[in-house]
Parts: sequence; C-alpha cells; structure tokens
Amino acid sequence: MTVRQLFVTTALPYANGNFHIGHIMEYIQADIWVRYQRMQGQRVYFVCADDAHGAPIMIAAQKAGITPQQFVANIAKGRQPYLDGFHIAFDNWHSTDGPENHELAQQIYLDLQAAGLIERRTIEQYFDPEKEMFLPDRFIKGECPKCASSDQYGDSCENCGAVYSPTDLLHPRSTLSGATPVLKSSEHFFFKLSHPKCVDYLKAWTQDGKLQSEVANKVKEWFTPNEAGLTGLSDWDISRDAPYFGIEIPNAPGKYFYVWLDAPVGYLASLKNYFAKGGPAARGESRSFEDFMTSPDVEQYHFIGKDITYFHTLFWPAMLHFSHRKTPNNIFVHGFITVSGEKMSKSRGTGIDPLKYLSIGMNPEWLRYYMAAKLNARVEDVDFNPDDFVARVNADLVGKYINIASRSAGFIGKLFDHRLGALSEEGGGLVAKLQAQAASIAQGFEEREFAKVMREIMLLADQVNAFVDLHKPWEAAKKPELREELWSTCSTCIECFRLLSLYLKPVLPQLVSEVETFLGVAPLCFEDAATTLGAGREIGNYKHLMQRVDTAMLDKLFESDAALVPAVGAAKTSNTSNTAVRQDPIAKTTAASDPLAPGGEAIAAEIGIDEFSKIDLRIALITACEAVQGSNKLLRLTLDVGEDNTRQVLSGIAKHYTAADLVGQLTVVVANLAPRQMKFGTSEGMVLAASHAHEKDHPGVFVLTPWPGAKPGMRIH
Ligand SMILES: [Zn+2]
Repeated sequence: MTVRQLFVTTALPYANGNFHIGHIMEYIQADIWVRYQRMQGQRVYFVCADDAHGAPIMIAAQKAGITPQQFVANIAKGRQPYLDGFHIAFDNWHSTDGPENHELAQQIYLDLQAAGLIERRTIEQYFDPEKEMFLPDRFIKGECPKCASSDQYGDSCENCGAVYSPTDLLHPRSTLSGATPVLKSSEHFFFKLSHPKCVDYLKAWTQDGKLQSEVANKVKEWFTPNEAGLTGLSDWDISRDAPYFGIEIPNAPGKYFYVWLDAPVGYLASLKNYFAKGGPAARGESRSFEDFMTSPDVEQYHFIGKDITYFHTLFWPAMLHFSHRKTPNNIFVHGFITVSGEKMSKSRGTGIDPLKYLSIGMNPEWLRYYMAAKLNARVEDVDFNPDDFVARVNADLVGKYINIASRSAGFIGKLFDHRLGALSEEGGGLVAKLQAQAASIAQGFEEREFAKVMREIMLLADQVNAFVDLHKPWEAAKKPELREELWSTCSTCIECFRLLSLYLKPVLPQLVSEVETFLGVAPLCFEDAATTLGAGREIGNYKHLMQRVDTAMLDKLFESDAALVPAVGAAKTSNTSNTAVRQDPIAKTTAASDPLAPGGEAIAAEIGIDEFSKIDLRIALITACEAVQGSNKLLRLTLDVGEDNTRQVLSGIAKHYTAADLVGQLTVVVANLAPRQMKFGTSEGMVLAASHAHEKDHPGVFVLTPWPGAKPGMRIH
C-alpha cells in the first residue's frame, strides 16, 4: 500500500484575540482526522498559523500603544496552552507576517499578473472625513446589498454569505467615528475573478463532485447573477492604501495586499517554515518544500468554518491555479457551534471559555469525545448541550467503554497473576465481531462521519457489556468451580477493551496512551485491529482511567465571571491583547461526586464495623438556637447530649431552618468529633443532615430526627 502524503490545515485564526470554543471545535475535528490518518500509516503535515495582518490589528495595536508585530506576538504567546490542553497536535504554528509569507504572497501576485489577471483601476472608496483615512471594510457597516440585512460589514454579509464591496452597502457609516463616509478616489489592484477563464475554471473546480453537496450548491448561487444587479462573480479588490499592516505589493509604493489575499497563502508559508526547520526531514521526507508542493501525490485539505467558504472555494483555488500552483484536493466545511441552541455572541463568545474549561479541572477528552459524537461530514451547526454532554460522557464513554476494563481488569490482576487466559468460543466470537467492524469504522473516520463512528463503537461496547452481564464475573469470582469461566470472561473483556481503545484513539489520544501502558503494548495503529493480545499475555495494573463529569463543574463553567470571559473576535472586532494564562490548563480531573449515583455521589469506600464504631453518634436535644452575627449560613445550636454541660455546635443550616423549627427537637450529633475552631466560635460536634450532592438541582437540607422515645445521650449503634 502506498503511503498517502497529506497536507492538512485548519483555518488561520485572526490574531486579535484568544481562541474561543469555535476554534477549538475546528481544531479537534481536524486533529481527529489527522490522528486517524497517522494510525493508518499515512504521512501527514498538519500546520496552522496566526492570521496577523489587516486594519483591525493595526488599529488595536495603536490603541494598545504597541507595534502590530508586538501585538500579534503577544497573542501568539497565548496559543500553546489551548493546543496542549486539548491535545491538538499541529506539526507547526507560524504567522502570516513571517518572511515566507511575504515572499510567497508577492510571488503568487506576480504570477497572477503575468497570467493577465491583475488589473489596476481608480476607484472611489469610502473615506472617513473625521479620521482622515480610507476606511477598511470591517470599519464600515450598513445593509447587505443582496439580502438587506442590517448591521453588516463592508466586505461580506454574515446573514447570506455574500461578498461585495463597501460601496455596495446601503446606508453606510464609519464604525470608527460614526460619520457617514465620503467617496474619495484611489488606485486599487483587482484580481479578475470575472474573467471567463476564471469563471470556467471555478465552475468546473467547484462542481466536479469533490465538495460537500451543500457547499457546491451554495457556490453555484454565487455564479448566478441576481436581481440587485450584481453579476455572478465580481472582480476582487486585493489592495489597500497605507497606512496598513500587511505585505507590500511589488512595484507599487504605499499599496498593500488586502489581508484576505495573504491569509490563505499562510498555509503554504507555515508548511514552508516547517520544511525550513527540518521537521519533514526528521520524519524521513527527503523532498524540498518546492518539490513537495509540486508532487502530484501530495493531497491538500483545508478544514474551515462555513463563513469563509467563498474565500476558500473561489479566491483560493483561482489564486493557486492561475499562479500555476497545486490546488486543494478538498475543502472540508463545518458549521458553527451553538450552546443550548443559542448562537455565539460576537462580544462574549459562547459562555464556554476553553481555558476556563481546563482550569476548573474538566477533562479535555470529554470535550473531544462529545465533539466527535456530534460532528459529521455535513455543514451542520453543532450544539453543545450541557445535559447531553453529561449523558454522553457519563453514560456512554465512562458507563459503557471504561466500565469494560473496570469490571474485568482487577480479577486478571488479583486472581490470574496479570495473565490473560484462553477465550471461550463465545468470547472469541465477540472479539471477532469487534475486529470485523474495523473497516467500517476506518471508513467513517476517513469520511469525517465521526458521530456515526462513535455510535458504532458504543454499540460494540453494549455487546461487550451484555456479555459481562451474562457471565457476571463478580459472582463467578466467589465460586472456585467457575474459575476458568471467570478467566475467560475477563480475558475477553480485555481483548475487547483493547479493540475499542484502538477505535477511539483518534478521539482520546491521552487516555489510550494510558491504556497502551496498562496493556503493555506498542502505540496502537489501525492494522492492529486484526490481532489480539492472546492467552498468556501479561498486562499491567489497572488504574481508573476516566472520571465521570460532575454537573457542578458545568455550573461553574457557565457561571458568569466577567474576569474569565475570553477575548473573542475572529476577524470581527479588535481586542486588546488578552493572553494571560490563568491556571495550569492540564489540571487533572478531580470529580468528587457522580450525578448518576444515588444522592448524586458514589457510595464511599467500604469500611469494617470496627471503623464505624469509632464514630460516636448520640441523640441530642436542641435547647437553644440563634443566628450567627456576620454569617447567613450558620446557626448556633445549644445541645443537651445527656452530659453535665450543654454543647455548642455551629451548623450550616440557617437557610433551611429557623429557631422555631428546631428548639425542643431531638436530633443526631457526632459526639466525638474533635472540637473545631471556626471564625464564629468553637463547634463541639456535628449535627447530622441529609442533602443531595448537587444541591443546586436537588435543593434541600434535612436534619435527622429520631423516632419518639429516644432520649438525649443515647448512643446510635
Ligand atoms: Zn446578506
């Protein structure tokens, strides 16, 4: 089998703010695909870069009193914690302000000029009479000329996706000063997209069946003239006047490339930079960057969001083709992310700050799994629903998959000296069934049908769990005569767990690397699905691999916390540099309670009667009760526990009980708890009360009270 050479990118994030959850979703989607390809033995070059140029960054840097280069460098410094935190493994991260991009963008422009596709025209352009500058597209707003939606930017419509010139906008205004802009003439450079050879080429390129069908249909609309008088494809204004932060146009002083010309060239620049650093050579690639990019065996794929389809399906392939460069093999377009059905707010993101997610101890692989369970190959929006998130992670990922190992690995360790035994015919059949699914799962990953793959894997896990329920290892372990069956059952589970881990590895790289250590196997790749561990194989000690989601964490994630709201603004608004990393993003999960368990938390570890008898529980009469000054939580209780003196206990039940409820009532107190010095006095014991682990969702605190007849001082046994 020939090894495929895959050049893969995600869209370049605009370097005026931190990543938001939409970026992370795209990176996870691409990263899963890349990891799958690598598990198939393909050679992948996975790169990205900061999109550094343009007026928004120039203006934001001015406001911050630093150079645009410094501004972008500050943003770049903040990228790595997100990428490391969510296990997103780009081979290279670069900047469109790097020298490679300057050189490549200028060369592509010169090649397009030689092809007769660049034209100079004097145009009337909007000028802000108060700020005395030509207005960048993003600083003019008005009504979309195609769909009449209000509050649209000067270059494209977020509602209908149309791309146009600022002068096409209806009722324009400057967002810098609020003034109505005036027209002023200036010489601009155009890429002649309307040239028949361009139109013919793009019609063929976009309608040959490679693009997702929704994307191909959308593009078709852009070729069609509409009532507003705009002819299908318009020529593209690729220049901007100084002052501008960008790449200078050759032989045209004071003129710069519009940021959207050099942004996609950044894909090539980042790859070139990776070659220059020796990355590919270290992995056995002997070709130069130039050879690589002209090789017919190299496949080029760009993962992007639906809002930048126009740039990637029309401008980008045309720029590449007519400058005699390789064009993308495909553009993989995804939808937006919504939270509980709500669209992301431009100023506040979605309410999911990726760094906050990590810093409160949420496991990044929960999110990777959840995204995988929702993503498909269509251009559909993905909804993050907190209840759905908890259900999929707790019930499916932990309850079905992880559970297989936790139900069986301990017995192999304790009873069979860490060695696997022979499988029964039934067990062998189950393993073979899982193996037979490899081709279908591989195809699903290849086609980016991740949700379908996750469903297939969970159906397999269901079959394994049904097998475990039938053979009940926990019961077999008590009967010496069932020892062989127990061994076979648990060995089957471990074989199946290995196969499911292999299938989940593109999604859960960190967890599966721990599985590989536990099983004592080399990094799993797809062809390993045809093999088994086999009888006699020694495995390591099983350590619990993944906690369940505690719903309290989600409450925390969505808690409004002004200081933690990320700076969001992919090419939309300028943000000041907000790159501080607040906390170790790879903090380990410490889930203390379990929403599926009784009362919201798992039953505590087993103890003997001796340990229980150390706790001295007594009946107490509440003789007095008063509020605690300065605390809205505590009540000061006076308790008669049948001793010479009463005791004072501070109890956090003020929100639930008043003195009238309590005085004269009997309750239960932990009588031998060491006295605790609190801010409001000493507490000599603890009154017992019941509550749910997730009090927010299951409100109420219930003080215990004995049946009638009990007397103060009686011990509870
Ligand atoms: Zn529109």
